Amino acid sequence: MAKYTPMIQQYLSIKAEYPDAFLFFRLGDFYEMFFEDAQKAAEELEITLTGRDGGAERIPMCGVPHHSAEMYIARLIEKGYKVAICEQVEDPASAKGVVRREVVRVITPGTVMDEKMLVDKENNFLAALSAGDAGEFGLAASDLSTGEFHVTTLTGDADQLLDELASFQPREVLLDPRLSQHPALLKQIRLRLGSLITTTAEKEVPGINVLEQELAAQFPEYQQACTTPIATQVAGLLLHYLQQTQKRALRHMNRIRRYDAKQYMVLDESARSTLELTVTLREGKRKGSLLWLLDQTGTAMGSRLLKKWLDKPLLSKEAIEARQEAVRAFAEDLLLLEEVRDRLKEVYDLERLSARIAYGSANARDLQSLRRSIAAVPGLKDRLMESDSRTLQQIAHEMDLCEDLLSSVEQAIVDDPPVTVKEGGIIREGYDEELDRLRTIQREGRTWISQLEQREREATGIKSLKVGFNKVFGYYIEVTKTNLRHLPEGRYQRKQTLANAERFVTPELKERERMILEAEEKSVELEYRLFTELREKIAREIPRIQALAERVAQLDVLHSFAVIAKKYRYVCPVIRTDDTLLIEEGRHPVVEAAVGEGEFVANDVHLDNRKRQVLLITGPNMAGKSTYMRQVALITLMAQIGSFVPVKKAEISLVDRIFTRIGAADDLVGGRSTFMVEMDETRQALAQATPRSLILLDEVGRGTSTYDGMALAQAIVEYIHDHVGAKTLFSTHYHELTRLEEELARVVNVNARCMEKDGDVVFLHKIEPGGADRSYGIHVAQLAGMPTEVIGRARSILEGLEGRAEAAPARQLELFPLDWSSSPSTDEQGLTVPAEKSEKAGEEASAKEVPVHQEAEE
Ligand code: ADP
Repeated sequence: MAKYTPMIQQYLSIKAEYPDAFLFFRLGDFYEMFFEDAQKAAEELEITLTGRDGGAERIPMCGVPHHSAEMYIARLIEKGYKVAICEQVEDPASAKGVVRREVVRVITPGTVMDEKMLVDKENNFLAALSAGDAGEFGLAASDLSTGEFHVTTLTGDADQLLDELASFQPREVLLDPRLSQHPALLKQIRLRLGSLITTTAEKEVPGINVLEQELAAQFPEYQQACTTPIATQVAGLLLHYLQQTQKRALRHMNRIRRYDAKQYMVLDESARSTLELTVTLREGKRKGSLLWLLDQTGTAMGSRLLKKWLDKPLLSKEAIEARQEAVRAFAEDLLLLEEVRDRLKEVYDLERLSARIAYGSANARDLQSLRRSIAAVPGLKDRLMESDSRTLQQIAHEMDLCEDLLSSVEQAIVDDPPVTVKEGGIIREGYDEELDRLRTIQREGRTWISQLEQREREATGIKSLKVGFNKVFGYYIEVTKTNLRHLPEGRYQRKQTLANAERFVTPELKERERMILEAEEKSVELEYRLFTELREKIAREIPRIQALAERVAQLDVLHSFAVIAKKYRYVCPVIRTDDTLLIEEGRHPVVEAAVGEGEFVANDVHLDNRKRQVLLITGPNMAGKSTYMRQVALITLMAQIGSFVPVKKAEISLVDRIFTRIGAADDLVGGRSTFMVEMDETRQALAQATPRSLILLDEVGRGTSTYDGMALAQAIVEYIHDHVGAKTLFSTHYHELTRLEEELARVVNVNARCMEKDGDVVFLHKIEPGGADRSYGIHVAQLAGMPTEVIGRARSILEGLEGRAEAAPARQLELFPLDWSSSPSTDEQGLTVPAEKSEKAGEEASAKEVPVHQEAEE
């Protein structure tokens, strides 16, 4: 190392501590990067790679100006990198040798604070995982930009852990040393969540005693939240990482909350994505998702809370009814609805404002936003108190008016302050005596100077005499060359000669100037100090602002539910704790909004665990089967978050988990075929569903040959019926399965009706009792524009096959006896039929059968 210059040696020793981050090394007005960092950054940021003499060799170097660094940092973070900001921490003028430098903050995808890198309506979570000795896991998640910190303990398999982790959509996942050694887990996180993974080594993580001390210092009540050793461990790990990267007091992060995943409906990754809760399946966009439809919130806080509610539907009838009661109060009182909407619009993002105040990055405009937000609260509170909803009154009751903060800002900050906080113009007149005095000096000085021109014109008789100002010489008196002869000798001191004028000063003018400039400099400094003092004072009250933010967010979501209920004519569902699910004229909320009012065909549903446990839905492709299934799940889920639902009438029995197997997406990144994904998802449902779960299985078995598929489909229905007991919607185009209704007590047939008209199929989208008698696959192919020869040939093959099938033995499905008496294996192969038989049967079957049931894919 000795061969490098002292500065490069300093660089290398700092870089060694931050191997996984780009080190932004401050050098004058630039942040420079060296060696591999420079090469990689030049590529990623498309900036020029240069070099620098480093002593023994030329070193690759590239840099960005410090004033535009934010933009480059944002680009690197966006790409999933970390950036360590290394500043000069002593004045270069007084430094002996190399200026001392230190890393002041490490910015990582999970710890960004910059507004420009955040999405208003979304949280930016950093999650941490820890594994315990007894197979339990600790999960903690924090959003530095809002100050949230959640912790929970989980028992269960890796799938459940990943599902819970996924619900936070973390930008970054921090793993404890043990899990850091687990390549399979790392791979899964990368594939399924796309998060940046930060691994840790044993020596980087302090012992539990130190972690406990750090927790106690940050969250005095942490023991109430960390009720298990693994919870303490993971919360400590996460907090330690935050401190290591942020290197400052995290005052806005003052509450640690424990949650118990068992208190909420479980929604795994697959259910979340197939039901398109927060993003659409195809494009991954918010638009077109349930969240998008339901989000009529007026604040970003409300929007983020709505997403959380969607992610965690409730299991408690009382809690759901408390929300419903508030929604009803809003929905029934138009005036209240409007007034609250208007007030909510005035409330800014109090959570992120708080974070910026704590970080010292809030400017005067932010404080004005805070003031305006707080100013909207009394109106809100009064209106809610007048409503007859107990939930709303309770929320109102808990709203802190924060009047002291409001008046502090009001007294101190001018109405329309500038963006910068270091150039004055922020503090109101009358707030601080000294500042007023300094300002008076400036004002009087300027008045004196502005009157000087007049006075001197009169004294000298030179009408064109001017007083001016420039940056180099300050104030001056200007006389044109032609007028110089009128100037009394010795009146002014000559300062500057121009082509046709002379500029002069007087001692008095210079003295005034000095006073003005001095007062200006002092007042700017003083304003900055007064501003930071105020920000500091408000920072101490952050927990109150956050508590207020929480109430506003709740109110906002409940209000949004009411707005939507009115807009789309939703109705309050009855929540039942028994097993009956009854929907009269239910609609799919998103499809309905897309096809337009009145165009959607409403359908009924009746499920229970006694007589109508499994609905076997038959009907051709495109007839509306999967829409129907999804709408049952969505209505149930909406009911459990407290929203009204798109129905004429509904009674919803609480569901503990929704399982879905819908659509035929290949798991391309995971490298599994459609059929494998299908089987894996179905296996999970069979293994984990309880009688209180809702299972949606759409065309299971279509990924393989007809006989194979039909056999599996039947066996799965039987198993759910006999062993699982969960309410199930099972769609299939194997109309042959409709006979299961006669064999299994709790299976009921319904079918998506369609009509044949002049040889064409017309889909009615009406789900009716009874099974379909045929598959209509050829009609759908025809609709899809298949050549007429193909259609004609398919028809004649079908006729031939139908003739043969009638002659075939009745229980052909016995070909592959499946032993359901043993419980399903949790291994990936759990559900596939024995390889040899299925392959053989598959080949034979596919040779003859494909034309019959080949369906046009949507
Ligand atoms: P399947 O699952 O039977 O193949 P889908 O549920 O995918 O059919 O429905 C196909 C299309 O029909 C949907 O994209 C939707 O636009 C329309 N559709 C489905 N159900 C309804 C309905 N109840 N009312 C109006 N249009 C519907």
